[in-house]
Amino acid sequence: MRDYGLLDTKATGAPPRIAGEAPGACPGCGCPRVFLIEAEVEAPSMLRVPKGSRAVAAYAGCAACPWASPAVITAKPGGKA
Ligand SMILES: [Zn+2]
Repeated sequence: MRDYGLLDTKATGAPPRIAGEAPGACPGCGCPRVFLIEAEVEAPSMLRVPKGSRAVAAYAGCAACPWASPAVITAKPGGKA
């Protein structure tokens, strides 16, 4: 399985979403198509997610190889309360 840089954070099972395309090429294989991906995750203990919000991990992932950047996890409005 691909390492999403999520440490021990678990995905909620919601499908990841392509949020855009990252500038620059993949450091893993040099492929010019690197996508910005957002995936809903279970909130890590260091992140306080307000009620009605969800924890979203954002990271860059290569379309052609398993490379993915470390994820940045933020709270976003609009989750299942
Ligand atoms: Zn790559």
